[in-house]
Amino acid sequence: MSDSVPLSPLPRLAGGWPEFLPGWVWLMGAGPGDPGLVTLHGLNALGQADVILVDALVAREVLDWARPGAEIIEAGKRGWVKSPKQKDISARLIEEARAGKRVLRLKGGDPFVFGRGGEEALDLLRAGVGFRVLPGISAGIGGLAYAGIPVTHRDVGNAVTFVTANHPEAVNWAEISRGSPDIVIYMGMRALPAIRAALLAAGRGESEPVAVVASAATPAQKVLETTLGACVEEVARAGLTAPAIICVGRAVLLRQALDWQALARGEAPRSLDPLGTGKGDS
Ligand code: SAH
Repeated sequence: MSDSVPLSPLPRLAGGWPEFLPGWVWLMGAGPGDPGLVTLHGLNALGQADVILVDALVAREVLDWARPGAEIIEAGKRGWVKSPKQKDISARLIEEARAGKRVLRLKGGDPFVFGRGGEEALDLLRAGVGFRVLPGISAGIGGLAYAGIPVTHRDVGNAVTFVTANHPEAVNWAEISRGSPDIVIYMGMRALPAIRAALLAAGRGESEPVAVVASAATPAQKVLETTLGACVEEVARAGLTAPAIICVGRAVLLRQALDWQALARGEAPRSLDPLGTGKGDS
């Protein structure tokens, strides 16, 4: 703990900002897209790190806040090896830490949400390298918020499920469909036909609302409001591509009222009572 670390852009924090010690690794989530979604702890980390291993989904502007002279290593698809394996990344983190560097592992969203942050932390622990975790805003929460979709809403239900569809055959879609009124799917674009088939088979209707939010919280954000029955064809027609968050459930309807980016452009809300609760006039 020290106030002597360079923290000029940061406000005072009771107890002081954590000091990034040489030989440590900090696992940081940068949030989805918009650099402004980086946390203050993240900003503090960027200002002190010697080496930053950054994933492909992190907005490049975030790196403008790195300490001048910090070494930036691309660990994503454009990275130092074509498609670095998890063990290569962990090995690099350990190697840099053992060389006495302050090592920042910068990931999109939150490092512990479908981001393999837990695996990296375990590798660091087993190697005897000290680490700290800096949570970030996950795409399944913040990305939906940027589309005007509240990830939970009292009139929709009391549960939400976050699921990765990287291996859709490994997901128990029937249980999720029954237990969770809202389903937020990461890495689901390739598996969308399989997801649709599984959810329909589990009893969700063709008319179930679906939103696909591509490149959420970036200037390229595109949102498609569709239905479970039509989503595969409409995604193809709209030309939406990864990264995208898919939201299944009635929370999607709230976008008709809460698309705050459209409201800020002066557009009128499409509905004041998007769930048809009769509360629209109140
Ligand atoms: N740790 C990240 C998730 C990594 S998995 C997080 O917490 O957000 C990568 C997946 O996250 C993508 O395939 C996509 O489904 C989602 N994702 C990440 N950033 C996104 C963005 N800006 N817009 C839409 N989806 C995004």
